[in-house]
Amino acid sequence: MFVQIALPIPKRTLFTYALPEALEDLCRPGCLALVPVGRGNQVGLVWKLSEESEWSGGGIRQIIDILGEEPLFSDEMIHLLDWISRYYLRPIGSVVAAAMPGHLRFERRRRAIWLGEEGLERLARLEEGSLAEQSDSLSENKSLPSKKKKPDPARQAELIEPLPPSLKPLAEALAKRPSGLTEETLARRFGRKGLDAKLKGLVKRGLIELEEDWRPRQGASKGSAKGSSSGQTLASSGAGGEGVDGGDLSEPFLTCAPELTSEQRVCAEALEGALEGGEFAPFLLRGVTGSGKTEVYFRAVEQCLNGGRQALLLVPEIALTPQLTRRYRARFGDDLALFHSGLSDGLRLQQWHQLRRGKARVALGARSALFAPFSNLGLVVVDEEHDGAYKQEDGVPYHGRDMAVVRAKNCRATLILGSATPSMESLANARLGRYTLLELNHRATGAKLPRVELVNLKEAAQKKERPWNALVSEPLRCAMVETLASDRQVLLFLNRRGFAPALVCRRCGAAVNCENCSVTLTLHMSRSRLMCHYCGLSKGVDDVCVACGQLSMATFGPGTEQVESEVRELFPEARVIRLDRDTVGKGGVGLEETLELFRLGEMDVLVGTQMAAKGHHFPKLALVGVVLAETGLWMPDFRAAERTFQTVTQVAGRAGREEGDPGRVLVQTLDPGHYALGAAMNHDIGAFADTELSFRSQAGYPPGFRLAMIRFSALDPGLLADFCQALGERLPHDCGVELLGPAPAPLFKLRRRFRWQLLFKERERGRLHGVLAGVLALGEEMAMGRIRLDADVDPYSFL
Ligand code: ADP
Ligand code: ZN
Repeated sequence: MFVQIALPIPKRTLFTYALPEALEDLCRPGCLALVPVGRGNQVGLVWKLSEESEWSGGGIRQIIDILGEEPLFSDEMIHLLDWISRYYLRPIGSVVAAAMPGHLRFERRRRAIWLGEEGLERLARLEEGSLAEQSDSLSENKSLPSKKKKPDPARQAELIEPLPPSLKPLAEALAKRPSGLTEETLARRFGRKGLDAKLKGLVKRGLIELEEDWRPRQGASKGSAKGSSSGQTLASSGAGGEGVDGGDLSEPFLTCAPELTSEQRVCAEALEGALEGGEFAPFLLRGVTGSGKTEVYFRAVEQCLNGGRQALLLVPEIALTPQLTRRYRARFGDDLALFHSGLSDGLRLQQWHQLRRGKARVALGARSALFAPFSNLGLVVVDEEHDGAYKQEDGVPYHGRDMAVVRAKNCRATLILGSATPSMESLANARLGRYTLLELNHRATGAKLPRVELVNLKEAAQKKERPWNALVSEPLRCAMVETLASDRQVLLFLNRRGFAPALVCRRCGAAVNCENCSVTLTLHMSRSRLMCHYCGLSKGVDDVCVACGQLSMATFGPGTEQVESEVRELFPEARVIRLDRDTVGKGGVGLEETLELFRLGEMDVLVGTQMAAKGHHFPKLALVGVVLAETGLWMPDFRAAERTFQTVTQVAGRAGREEGDPGRVLVQTLDPGHYALGAAMNHDIGAFADTELSFRSQAGYPPGFRLAMIRFSALDPGLLADFCQALGERLPHDCGVELLGPAPAPLFKLRRRFRWQLLFKERERGRLHGVLAGVLALGEEMAMGRIRLDADVDPYSFL
């Protein structure tokens, strides 16, 4: 028998291994297998078994071991991985690696166990050469440590005495520890050098045996050290150990099921029908902010579980939504498997096995939870389906929402894409009848949607009521005075962290740029540093311009730090807190504390980025100020208007969520006539979509058209330019697919690499794929490894 293995390395091929007879019963597709690769070993995924080798070359090696008793992946998952590999034109090995972050990075752990007398006896028997006895004694030896009697020290000394001096200390340490010592411990005590040879020397003499064990590498997953503390809080919150979780009356959510509003009931009934049907049924749930979408998800999950199937819930970034996580935990308790970046590989693997065996029935996580091995998936929910965080940008650039659709389809599951501001892609699918549209047009608590007003910054500046460079305009300042006076809270939103996005010379106009990337460095006043938000470069601030030598550097543009300092100046009495990636650690450390302080009313003003805008519920929040609406509009990206509409609507949705005062939203803008802002002001997604979709179809953009991109990069800009030019001359311009480029990327230099890109546009997916694959193959052949090529199907970033 032969086995085809997918190794987690960026290779397009599967690897053939021979299957030893002893492993034939264990080895099935979807299992993890330990195989020799080069001079070491690696864990790969068993893809398929065959009678004949698919490798015609010689030197087929044997599988060493199968890890675990049952396949981790079902046929359905293998099918999905294969599909992803084809759709995104990525090597199967890369897809396998992406699907199992960390899981395949196993390491060998060896434990040396002292055998002493018994080892000598066994050795003697072995030397007599009876095979039967050999296997007998081996199986007997497996249970040795437990029934081992206390070793007799005198006898041990006798055994150690004749050993060469280099082995003695090792033998003495092991003889004192009948349960054995790991290789790591021994290396720490006796040094790593020569340890392997010494251990083998003791094995040869029959004094010890080495037990091998493969386990997920410690600390291999990102954030395992720091992130796990926050992860732990999330994971354990269901156990009811945490103060804030317990009986805190101010908790804004209900742990028991509330009676559904009439709108919610209509949605729940439609989903009920679909879940009973047991076929693929996709829904787009558009519910205004605070309309109780979560409760609709809960009902669907409960029904799905009652029907004996499992549910998958995807959220954009789990670390950013601790409140939501607790809601799920409170509702589903031990049925819930939680996936977050703080989880160690070992814990993650454990959760996978629980899902595989049907012990956990609900999985909640960010996009990578897509790859969790369900045994019987009946419902997939994608919360905030419009969120850009669903798109993976490194590795295999898949879109989590789109893959959720594919997986739901493969599993004949009910699918809910939920959002207050659905993506144009999903809205178009609903308009075409591919998705059933469900709507919640009112807030569940009975509160009204907040009043949204635009503040024209040009007019405000002309009135000269505030300094010319003020970030808080006079109308916003007045609204803040009023709100704070009535003991309610303010949220100021700006999607840029730091003090200012650029430091520019007032004399010659030169900005301070990153050395590795073609972007300006952001000034961070709190650290007195200039920093690159792409590569992390950081350097000291200098008042002298490097270009002209004048003492004339000035900040350019706003950042959250600057908003915070202006608010502190304007309202010295107010308690102000800032929330962005600078105040929150990796994996969301400290986020929960900030949100909690604000939610409980211990703070008056919250200044923040997206982090402060996502899905939170603040009962006393009455005023939301958007400091500058167009930060997102200035991007070279056809989705800029959509993102602006979504962001403004989402931030606005934080205001006035409790019954009573509906709350106010002031949006400061330089372009008050923009249709995205007009639509956000009127809470009118229909109007926005009409304008936006017609613009998209005229310009040949998604959802009507499909896009793909190839990015080219190299350290040498000349080499790259020559290559792109040469490729450009050989492009199939009559292939029916529109090709734009290759051209230098807007972000021409990123982390020291120079970048060009080539965009593909076409209505029909099949044709686009064909041409893309052809050009990619041609490019790879011409590049001969000197240029890096990355395909991106359905791209979301055009920088
Ligand atoms: P969304 O996710 O749509 O923004 P949420 O699910 O956060 O809205 O719900 C908003 C608020 O309404 C929450 O405090 C929630 O507990 C409450 N809520 C939801 N459904 C109901 C209901 N049927 N009756 C009363 N309150 C509800
Ligand atoms: Zn940089």
